[in-house]
Amino acid sequence: MAEKYKVDKDLVRMEIVDFTFPEKEYRTSRHDTVLPYNWALGPTWTRFFDGLKEGKILGTRCKKCNKVLVPARTFCPICYEDMQEWIELPQEGSIETWCLVNYKYYGQVKEPPYIIAQIHLDKADCSLTHFIGGFNLSDPDKVRGKMKTVSRVKAVWSKEKHGDIYDIAHFKPV
Ligand SMILES: [Zn+2]
Repeated sequence: MAEKYKVDKDLVRMEIVDFTFPEKEYRTSRHDTVLPYNWALGPTWTRFFDGLKEGKILGTRCKKCNKVLVPARTFCPICYEDMQEWIELPQEGSIETWCLVNYKYYGQVKEPPYIIAQIHLDKADCSLTHFIGGFNLSDPDKVRGKMKTVSRVKAVWSKEKHGDIYDIAHFKPV
């Protein structure tokens, strides 16, 4: 069988020179790997999530390009400037794009049907990903009638807040 990869001396580049799938079919057995882990939030995410616990949606403003990004960022991805000015954003905005999920698959955090959307909060310069809810999602035609890309929505807060993104239960049409 031909060599799969040609490897440069310094091992930085690999070039595929010949690749063929094995002709033999291998027996397999199904295993699901679960990998829970703790992710260090750092000061910016900590402040953002503390804000949610207090019912506030916080973003940061770049002193160079003046853009307000939400969730808050440590640095501006456009200018690479530190973003140290904190802004409390309005809890209303408009939908940029959305998707009705009615298919169940492994790893979902919510039981379908649900709508996931990009929400452009007023005074922000980017969109926030979250759920749209508060109305019956079982009839796709009715959902289409209610959901437009310019639809106005506002945050609905969870009864119990834990300092995570689900402190906002969803956004609902206004
Ligand atoms: Zn910037």
